[in-house]
Amino acid sequence: MTLAQRFGQVELPEILVVDTKQLRSERYAIRKKEQRDAGQNRPDHYAGASWLTDLQPALPFDGPGAKDAASQGGVQGPSPTPADDSGKPGERGGAADADSTTDAVTGARDNGKPILTPALHAAITQSLDEKKQVILFQNRRGYSPYQVCDVCGWIPQCRNCDVSLNFHKLTNKLHCHYCGTVYPPVQTCMACGNHRFVQRNFGTERIEEYLEEVFPNARVARMDVDSVRGKSAHDTLIQQFEQQRIDILVGTQMVVKGLDFQHVNLVGILDADSILSFADFRVNERAFQLMEQVSGRAGRLDGKGRVLIQVANTAHPVLGYLRAHDYALFFQHEIAMRQAFHYPPFTRVIQVTFRHRDKETVHSAANFFANNLKKDFGAYLVGPAEPVVARVRNQYLMELILKLPKDGHTINFAKHVIQQQTAIVQNDRKWKSVVIIPDVDAL
Ligand SMILES: [Zn+2]
Ligand SMILES: [Zn+2]
Repeated sequence: MTLAQRFGQVELPEILVVDTKQLRSERYAIRKKEQRDAGQNRPDHYAGASWLTDLQPALPFDGPGAKDAASQGGVQGPSPTPADDSGKPGERGGAADADSTTDAVTGARDNGKPILTPALHAAITQSLDEKKQVILFQNRRGYSPYQVCDVCGWIPQCRNCDVSLNFHKLTNKLHCHYCGTVYPPVQTCMACGNHRFVQRNFGTERIEEYLEEVFPNARVARMDVDSVRGKSAHDTLIQQFEQQRIDILVGTQMVVKGLDFQHVNLVGILDADSILSFADFRVNERAFQLMEQVSGRAGRLDGKGRVLIQVANTAHPVLGYLRAHDYALFFQHEIAMRQAFHYPPFTRVIQVTFRHRDKETVHSAANFFANNLKKDFGAYLVGPAEPVVARVRNQYLMELILKLPKDGHTINFAKHVIQQQTAIVQNDRKWKSVVIIPDVDAL
C-alpha cells in the first residue's frame, strides 16, 4: 500500500536525499587548513584517509552553524587502550559496542557529522518564512550521546552493561540507557589520563539547543521521553504545536505516532544512517516504515510537503523505494532477500538466550548447548554468539538462533530438544544458575 492509498487523495511529499559525506569532506578540509594555520602537524591518518579521496567541490556552507560545526571536530588518535577493572564507570575501556568501535577507529568521523546540511538549513528557513512548521526527527535522545576522550578516543562505559554512557546536559550527568544508572561526567580519561573531552554525535537535546542558536526567532520545542513525562505533558505539547505556538519540533519516535499536523510542510530526518544500520535483519523494514511514517507528517493537506533525508550512505536501497513511495516494490525486494537468507516468513526462528553474571560460565554453557544441537540441527543453527550488547545489568549474554523450515514436526522436535538440553545444562553443577530463555518466533 502506498502512502497515497493510505491517506486518500492527499498529494505526496517530495522526498529529497541529502548527502552528508560532502559536508564532512569539506569540514575536514576546513579543519586541516585550521591545523596548518595553527602550525599543528598532527598525523591523522585515522581520521581522514577516506575523506581525502572523496573530497568534493566545496558546498556553499555559510549557515550560522558552519564555524560551530567546524570547530567541534577533534582529531582522535589510535584505538583506545582498555583501562583496568577498577569498578568505576568506564572500567571496560573504549570501544565495546559496535557503534563506538567504528567511531574510535575513524576518529572524528561522527564529530564531523553535521546537524544541518546547507540544504536542510535553507529548507527550514524557507518554511519559517512561509509561516509553516517543521518537524525534525532524530532517533536519539539526550544532549550528546557520548563523551569522548579527544586524545585517544576512549568513551565512558556503564559499569553494569557493555554500552557507552550518554551525556545529558539537563542533569549534567552520564546516563546508561540500558539499566538507568547515572554517573557524574568524567574529567579524566581512564585510558590515557588526559583531561580533554569532546562530545560526539548529537541527541535531541543538543539539536534543540543548536536550533535555538541558529534560528533565534523560531520557537523550538522537543518531544522525547525526557522532555515529555506523563500524558498531560504530551497532550500540551501537541496542542501547542497544533495551535502553531511552536515553529520547529525536534523529536524521537514520539513525533511519528498519531500526530496529524496541518501546517507542517517540512520534515527533516537528521541522521538516516543511524536508522539504516541496526544490527538486525528487519532493519530495512523498520527503517522504511519509520521513514515513511515520518514522511507522512509532511504536506498532508495542501500537498506542498517536503522531506529531507540526511544520510551518508546514499546508495542504501531503502532510500530509493522511499523516494518512489513504493511499498510494493520495497516489499518484493525485501521478501526476495529474506528468502535467499532463510529468514521469516520463509522459516521460523527460535532464539535461545543464555544469561549469567560470569562470562566464562555463560560462554561454556552456550557452546555446550549448541554442540548438542548440532547433531539434529547443524544446518539450521546460527551461533552461539554474543549479542551486540553483550552485558546488561551485570549479566553476560549469549544467543543462538535456529532457522527452521516451516513444518510443525520440525518445530515441535526442536522445542523438545531445547527443553531437554536446557535440563541437561542446568543439572550440571557449574551451570545450574545459568538462565536459559527460549523464544519461538522471537525475531
Ligand atoms: Zn547500564
Ligand atoms: Zn584518552
